[in-house]
Amino acid sequence: MPPVIDEERCTLCGTCYDRCPTDVFTPAGDEPPCVAYPEECWHCAACVIDCPAEAVVLDLPLQMHIVPSPALYGPPGPEEADALRQAAAFSRSIVEPS
Ligand code: SF4
Ligand code: SF4
Repeated sequence: MPPVIDEERCTLCGTCYDRCPTDVFTPAGDEPPCVAYPEECWHCAACVIDCPAEAVVLDLPLQMHIVPSPALYGPPGPEEADALRQAAAFSRSIVEPS
């Protein structure tokens, strides 16, 4: 799913517009940026990470939630397990922002 801007939170700073590598957003004057080209979104999450108001919500495609399966690669070591936990927490923060 392309990004969605929470208009209540948006401070009109333009950071998402500046950061997006594929120009998904267009400026909208006194309104939050418009998601004008949603089909161009790579789901890189730059707009989510850099928005100072936590106003951008991005629902990542299922494929991007898939992590290496222990069935194929064996159980993760302590450092890998910690990295996987952090990745999962990050994914949840994007899908379910507080
Ligand atoms: S970065 Fe966030 S606060 Fe700034 S214009 Fe985009 S959505 Fe609004
Ligand atoms: S996730 Fe990346 S490509 Fe998609 S709108 Fe945000 S900055 Fe642009």
